[in-house]
Amino acid sequence: MIQIEKVSKTYPARDKGPAVTALDGVTLTVDRGDIFGIVGYSGAGKSTLLRLINGLESPTTGKVVVDGKEISNLAERELRKARLKIGMIFQHFHLLWSRTVRENVAFPLEIAGVPKEEIRQRVDELLQRVGLAERAEAYPSQLSGGQKQRVGIARALANQPDILLCDEATSALDPETTASILQLLKEIHREMGITLVLITHEMSVVRQICNKMAVMENGQVVESGTVEAIFSQP
Ligand code: ADP
Ligand code: ADP
Repeated sequence: MIQIEKVSKTYPARDKGPAVTALDGVTLTVDRGDIFGIVGYSGAGKSTLLRLINGLESPTTGKVVVDGKEISNLAERELRKARLKIGMIFQHFHLLWSRTVRENVAFPLEIAGVPKEEIRQRVDELLQRVGLAERAEAYPSQLSGGQKQRVGIARALANQPDILLCDEATSALDPETTASILQLLKEIHREMGITLVLITHEMSVVRQICNKMAVMENGQVVESGTVEAIFSQP
């Protein structure tokens, strides 16, 4: 589903600072249906890796192949099409604060040109699925952190993606809310057969939800495999 082959990424120098090598020879394979955790301290290169997967950045060297297509070779139109198949959720939710829950979830469907009636029905289904049907007309500021992330999840799923990228999706939440969001992600994974890629600095998140994982340090993968194998090492 996702192949990262010998990828390096160097950001050019800015303001007289040095160039930064965020990724240094990373090779990883995420199979269809995996719940893949990428764990590492801040600065390890995790966000850069996610931005390469959804084509927001291009690798300096190496290849990023998603669903058989090399992302950095796609023309703008193709890239937009490929991105529709990738949903993303964020630590700080990235919701539109002046729009209601319903409008936030409808937004990606409007951009994709889905007819109004269909949008209404799909948004209702999505809000039902994430347990927010009653809050459809609320504004994000009226919601708890966990509810905000549920809106983020509904929005990310709106165009029925094959892949959901989770960028520190529970890092702003308390442990109990984290557990309930991870539970929801697990259910969605089971029901929709979606591939999940999570980046996190919390090993506990990986233990709770992932089947495979990679550990990153200084732009490199220092360990990868099944969660079971990695945690059962002596
Ligand atoms: P993580 O997500 O693990 O915290 P990042 O991918 O955000 O790691 O960052 C890896 C390194 O690349 C860090 O040193 C960071 O400061 C640097 N970096 C990230 N994004 C940029 C950017 N847009 N421009 C320059 N340097 C960046
Ligand atoms: P968050 O964790 O809330 O997403 P980050 O600290 O990861 O915020 O980064 C926010 C934005 O700043 C990202 O888009 C990232 O590319 C950019 N960024 C991170 N580190 C650097 C850096 N050293 N130089 C320039 N931009 C950076």
